[in-house]
Amino acid sequence: MVEKYKVLIGGEWGDSASGETSEVVNPANGEVVATVPKCGAGEVDACVTAAAAAFPEWSGKTVAERSKLLLELSRLIMANQESLARLETMEHGSPIRKTMNFDVPLCAEQLEYFAGVARGITGETLPVGPWCLSMTVRQPLGVVGLITPWNFPALMVVWKLGAALAMGNTCIVKPPSIAPLTALKLGGLAMEAGIPKGVVNVITGPGETVGEALVGHPGVAKIGFTGDTATGKRIMRVASDTVKQVGLELGGKNAFVILEDADVDSAVEGAVFGAYFNTGQVCAAASRFYVHQSLYDEFSEKFVAASKTLRLGDTMDFATVLGPVAYKGHRDKIAGFVERAKNSGAKLLFEGERPSAPALQEGYFVAPTIFGDCTNDMELMRDEIFGPVVGLSRFGSPDEAIGLVNDTPYGLSASIWTKDTRAGLAMASQIQAGTVWINEHLIIFCETPWGGCKESGWGKDLSKMVFDEYTMTKHIYVDLTGQPVKPWYGILK
Ligand code: NAD
Repeated sequence: MVEKYKVLIGGEWGDSASGETSEVVNPANGEVVATVPKCGAGEVDACVTAAAAAFPEWSGKTVAERSKLLLELSRLIMANQESLARLETMEHGSPIRKTMNFDVPLCAEQLEYFAGVARGITGETLPVGPWCLSMTVRQPLGVVGLITPWNFPALMVVWKLGAALAMGNTCIVKPPSIAPLTALKLGGLAMEAGIPKGVVNVITGPGETVGEALVGHPGVAKIGFTGDTATGKRIMRVASDTVKQVGLELGGKNAFVILEDADVDSAVEGAVFGAYFNTGQVCAAASRFYVHQSLYDEFSEKFVAASKTLRLGDTMDFATVLGPVAYKGHRDKIAGFVERAKNSGAKLLFEGERPSAPALQEGYFVAPTIFGDCTNDMELMRDEIFGPVVGLSRFGSPDEAIGLVNDTPYGLSASIWTKDTRAGLAMASQIQAGTVWINEHLIIFCETPWGGCKESGWGKDLSKMVFDEYTMTKHIYVDLTGQPVKPWYGILK
């Protein structure tokens, strides 16, 4: 059955003014599962009006009051764990074992973190002199627009929404058109938790119209964006007209460096997770592998063998570890990368098989694919593929590896595999990336900041640092003397 979803504006569920809708397709079988309103600039305006009207009440609450409401939302997420997980599996194609055990519990945990840590966020008093009190206070920005990608449809919303709400902002969430259902469901749960009407608005529609109207709207103080680098560049341009703040979590082309002394078996385990988790649709996915020449053969052999064991299949089956990619156009784009790589001089080491079940023949499956003998000038080693397709390359010295790793416009993350922590730290300090893991890849905690450099964007999600993104720091100065003793007044006398 195709379910008809509505958008949430000012606490009311509604359709688009035009009555137009867009379809949400289950990528595991190509079937339409839902429709969502295809909104436009008028509905964006209505969201801004609703969020602005809700701002005085929401920002006027104590931090404790907001925190308790976030905890209630977290509780409701876990109370709806199974239905949320099924919904996300259906709209995105992530296997149910992942959405049940990873995405949904992490959304709840993330909100607990924001609810707790927000209560300890403070300003400062500044030691200017005994005649005054000089202090900084943190204030919410106002109405913020949160534009999210499809690769973790629920979690990417919660990362931004939780932090923005905790700090007293009111929010307009714009999820991606292909996977908007969990975001709408989260909006409903926010209302059920008791968060006042208009504090959380969720609007669906094309990025080029709805997203851009949000970015250009003078009533929106900030855009928190996660998505493609090209979209981030466009958002910066549009935001400049209103000198709007933007936080940009963009693409990546993440290196996985195996030094001469690395434990190959643990590197293989890390490589499988780093490259294939979420079918490679992760901004931080390991996609460029630089392996010391002495370990190259052993690593590539073991990595291929481990890649053969992954089970692609029915996303509602708890035994399935890899689902399809999120939409047809993306499947075709990845297929193009693979075909071109085959003619690029790279050596195809492994190309897995799509699931054979008849029910899955219309699904957008892409199997793990590994190329060897790659060089940094190849498209495969330069462009973000956002799928389970990786390239392996050899290096001789650590300096050569650092040069190869930094030879990219991106700067999101990298990992280094070594038994020598000192060598790992020395290399980490020279890698241009927002996160460098040593003997891990793709491990992200609520407590640790997330965000890139170069064309991977700026600003941080997660950790205490995200609260800087959703507050402004105001300096307040109080004269304590009542006397004209100010050191600079003499200049005019
Ligand atoms: P996308 O840029 O196509 O879309 C992201 C969101 O932006 C969607 O909601 C879309 O509707 C909206 N949008 C599109 N055009 C817009 C415009 N002109 N103005 C305003 N909004 C617009 O990205 P995607 O394909 O959904 O997501 C994949 C990308 O996200 C990858 O590049 C990935 O690396 C990146 N990503 C980055 C991080 C990170 O933390 N750095 C995390 C997850 C995903």
